[in-house]
Amino acid sequence: MLSVAAPAQFPPDQGIDIAMAGRSNAGKSSAINTLLGRHGMARTSKTPGRTQLLNYFELVPGRRLVDLPGYGHANAPGEVRSKWGPLIEALRRRACFGALMLLVDCRRGLKDEDLGLLEWADLPPDCLHVLLSKSDQLSRSEGLNVLRQVQAQLEGIASAQLFSSLKGVGLEEARSVLKRWASRDAASGKAEGK
Ligand code: GDP
Repeated sequence: MLSVAAPAQFPPDQGIDIAMAGRSNAGKSSAINTLLGRHGMARTSKTPGRTQLLNYFELVPGRRLVDLPGYGHANAPGEVRSKWGPLIEALRRRACFGALMLLVDCRRGLKDEDLGLLEWADLPPDCLHVLLSKSDQLSRSEGLNVLRQVQAQLEGIASAQLFSSLKGVGLEEARSVLKRWASRDAASGKAEGK
């Protein structure tokens, strides 16, 4: 694992960076821990808005998960926000920036800020996937209703699924998306103009 606080510290621009994003408290750290099967890797209890670093987790050599700072909290000091703006912008501009998984609390649903983040990523639909987190908090039929609604909102933009770190719901589906992405080489794909 590597923590990046400035663009000079990015790992080599090769292979693929898979960004993990979400509003603070959406369940992103828990999802990273569950997906990687390594508990305690991404901190699950932290002061909202305080994560300023980009934390990298290597899946296999050259294939990396990048934990983006949680967004949506007004209490992050202005200086911090203005600092991580350019940093995640630099991340997005890397040739290897190839996919993004977005955590959305299934009880909150998809908000404008989430759609804005997907738009910011500027990636094709098969490179954007939404995990509707904490699905254990809804009944099966409520969960399916939320999923259908979100899929309609994301038509032509991204795929989506129900997910629960607590109960392991959707774990295999989410891992298979990561596996598909990790088999790609975004850096060379973009270099070749694909
Ligand atoms: P982050 O801020 O997006 O990284 O969110 P965390 O992973 O730290 O989780 C925020 C809160 O949601 C914590 O209290 C977690 O225990 C809780 N949480 C995370 N995942 C789940 C889940 O699958 N089910 C339930 N019920 N709670 C969850």
